[in-house]
Amino acid sequence: MEKVAIVTGGSRGIGKAIVEALARKNIKVIANYNRSEEKAKILKEELEKENIFIDIFKADVSKREEVKVMVDYTIEKYGKIDILINNAGIDQEKMFQDITDEDWDNIVKVNLYSVFCTTQEVIPYMLKQKSGCIINMSSIYGTNGGSCAVAYSATKAGVDGMTKSLAKELGPSHIRVNSIAPGYIDTDMNEKYSKEEIEQIKEETPLEKIGKPVDIAKCIEWLVEDNFTTGQVISINGGWGIT
Ligand code: NAP
Repeated sequence: MEKVAIVTGGSRGIGKAIVEALARKNIKVIANYNRSEEKAKILKEELEKENIFIDIFKADVSKREEVKVMVDYTIEKYGKIDILINNAGIDQEKMFQDITDEDWDNIVKVNLYSVFCTTQEVIPYMLKQKSGCIINMSSIYGTNGGSCAVAYSATKAGVDGMTKSLAKELGPSHIRVNSIAPGYIDTDMNEKYSKEEIEQIKEETPLEKIGKPVDIAKCIEWLVEDNFTTGQVISINGGWGIT
């Protein structure tokens, strides 16, 4: 039977490109969404025109009970989960002194707790089959930090710590765990940047361009087929992050 993958935040941006790439590789994909139901439906319909069939599933991944329902649905329908892509995430641009407890709790729930609880719900099935591939979406800010992005950077550094620790713990069970740390990728998340700011990022980037969601999806395609890479934070940033 073909492999089965859950992709969180799979209806738009980087997650959408990942869903398309995996589904075109004959992997059964459950594309999770939370708010973007319409986009999820359109993605499903678009792929159906290519005779590719995905499942779309609504769940707020910052809530364990909703994650559990999604995982149970996947197991009932397909009997296994081979690949988990913890992609869902939110941004937060604030001066450190302006971050409220509520801001902090919210971003930690969506960016970090979601990776913890989704992985924890999926792991029993991977352990049973003694194989699995988990890929967490981190960020260049998790490694380098970002001004006015302290909470966001802290969550992504947390994701990287979780990735490395879990890779050690789950390696003997043949479950690989890696992070991908994108630089600037052209998605809704970056709508806040002006044309001038984007030009400046391009100038600071050795490859003189900004990334596209498909650049991340290509790495995911490779990682899911690989069998000797684990515990890594893979930077995809056009060289923007070279220090
Ligand atoms: P995006 O276009 O803003 O999309 C964010 C995705 O996360 C959406 O699919 C959204 O789903 C989902 N999401 C947010 N909260 C959720 C929740 N509580 N439950 C389920 N899904 C939720 O962002 P993106 O650029 O594609 O980012 C994807 C990942 O890459 C994020 O983890 C982000 O931190 C990381 N990243 C992005 C960049 C970049 O430059 N774009 C750089 C570094 C890292 P709904 O719309 O359905 O709610």
